[in-house]
Amino acid sequence: MSRLSEFLSPESLWGRLDDVSGDAGHEDHPPRMGFFTDTSVCIGCKACEVACKEWNEVPDDGYQLTGMSYDNTQQLGASTWRHVAFVEKTLPSRAKPAPEVTDLGMPGSGPPGREVTLPHGEDQATESGDSGLRWLMSSDVCKHCTHAACLDVCPTGSLFRTEFGTVVVQEDICNGCGYCVPACPYGVIDQRKPDGRAFKCTLCYDRLKEGQTPACAQACPTESIQYGEVDELRVRAAARVEELHAKGVDVARLYGADPDDGVGGDGAFFLLLDEPEVYGLPPDPIVTTRDLGAMWRHVGAAAVALAGVGAASFLGRPFAGRWGR
Ligand code: SF4
Ligand code: SF4
Ligand code: SF4
Repeated sequence: MSRLSEFLSPESLWGRLDDVSGDAGHEDHPPRMGFFTDTSVCIGCKACEVACKEWNEVPDDGYQLTGMSYDNTQQLGASTWRHVAFVEKTLPSRAKPAPEVTDLGMPGSGPPGREVTLPHGEDQATESGDSGLRWLMSSDVCKHCTHAACLDVCPTGSLFRTEFGTVVVQEDICNGCGYCVPACPYGVIDQRKPDGRAFKCTLCYDRLKEGQTPACAQACPTESIQYGEVDELRVRAAARVEELHAKGVDVARLYGADPDDGVGGDGAFFLLLDEPEVYGLPPDPIVTTRDLGAMWRHVGAAAVALAGVGAASFLGRPFAGRWGR
């Protein structure tokens, strides 16, 4: 059922919402589940992309290299539900001579006993020596927003809020109208060309119902993608930022973890090592349906005013007829 046809609590379209599943009508629901993606330990192996495609039987997306980087899937789309961004940035010249190094604690990479170290202050950067580039790698995904505009505008009920607080699209109900696509403030949901039906990450709803971990998180060898209860993940993410700051990686920051932000916080949030725009993320997203309530109030007021004018002109006819001659 469309959210617009349901009873809306004051927080349903905008603001902090601590019980997203309860607001959607799930009683006695399990804890809200989500992703914390720590990009500081991503090695760009793309195991998450492959695992997602295999488990969810997502068709190939062309695999065209852009010619600009090693990224061959380019962006999230109807057939790319996890996308590993390879961001190449030119190092400032001051970083070129033998930089200090910082251990980011990357689990499981490198021979036992040997720390993986990265340039101090340039965090995840890989100093190439001759190219002067650093790479930032980040596995992007649907944010499973607290206030999900895609869901709010869907007229068919194809998009729904699960008992885990995630947002899922049902391919057998979607009619391909495309309303959800411009509604998403992150540009995540996308229509597939042959028939226009919309697809995106389901946070492996079928696996969650069986108590399993989503395929991408299960496959990630560095624990860059962490799955769990959102409240617990937020605590873990804040601790990780503190740890990195203590190591001098002062560029580390969280993205999407704040429940008071423009979408009420994301169910899938990130630790970034640069500004969101560098990763292709909007710096300050706001749910696009925020003003729907006010708009409907204005429409209602306009309708009442029009009805009043109509009634007045109707009632005024005999009066005008008597005195208007
Ligand atoms: S990121 Fe976009 S597609 Fe995902 S839940 Fe939010 S609005 Fe919907
Ligand atoms: S394209 Fe499908 S999922 Fe998107 S709004 Fe239309 S019916 Fe809903
Ligand atoms: S998030 Fe994990 S699985 Fe995905 S590219 Fe990074 S390290 Fe590999």
